[in-house]
Amino acid sequence: MTGKQQRNDTAPAAKLADVRNRVAKAAALAGRRDDEICLIAVSKTRSAAEIERLIAAGATDFGENRVQEIQEKWPAIRARHPHVRLHFIGRLQSNKAAEAMALCDAIHSLDRRSLVDAIARAVASGEAAPELFVQVNIGDEPQKGGCAIADLPALLDYAAEQGLAISGLMAVPPFDVEPAPYFALLAELAVRNGLVGLSMGMSSDFEIAAILGATHVRIGSELFGPRV
Ligand SMILES: *Cc1c(COP(=O)(O)O)cnc(C)c1O
Repeated sequence: MTGKQQRNDTAPAAKLADVRNRVAKAAALAGRRDDEICLIAVSKTRSAAEIERLIAAGATDFGENRVQEIQEKWPAIRARHPHVRLHFIGRLQSNKAAEAMALCDAIHSLDRRSLVDAIARAVASGEAAPELFVQVNIGDEPQKGGCAIADLPALLDYAAEQGLAISGLMAVPPFDVEPAPYFALLAELAVRNGLVGLSMGMSSDFEIAAILGATHVRIGSELFGPRV
């Protein structure tokens, strides 16, 4: 094996170990156990080979944001690694919900009634119920997905009426500002609504999110390198 190939094989393992270590340190600082925090490797735009290398290094949970990309990449990977869990973290059209559910174990971007309806319909016709997170537009940004903070209680009630269990909340704070207040606000909204799951924190801020209660961190570039 050449030196270059060796680097390629060990780099994913080193990156995964580094990120896990940083999550564990942040968790410890907050008096939490690191096994309370699910590390989701965000593999959008990454090749099947890159994903396979991270699975070989021990990653078990992956995140994707486009249904078509999932359909192209994941059936083969899932067939080889049935224990791996896939999380949908992008905007989801209602007419793609069933297709996403066919390949994903969790959906982090439930943000409106029409999507609740589509997921409930797919469950009624035999699709396994995914773990669900309601995405909150935590910075009130018009271009971002997520339900408005004011609409959250009604959306949670509606999901319950349709028979869907909600695990928690998800958010992406505004870009280029201090994320901690937004993470703290999401945590507060979860408490207010009796939810325990908190999907928050990306490559640039996952340690802060872990300190502030994240149960799921979604990390792409710190594991795979910069997206090109
Ligand atoms: C791409 C993406 C991530 C990961 O971003 P990185 O900065 O590469 O860690 C996390 N969450 C969502 C919703 C994303 O779209």
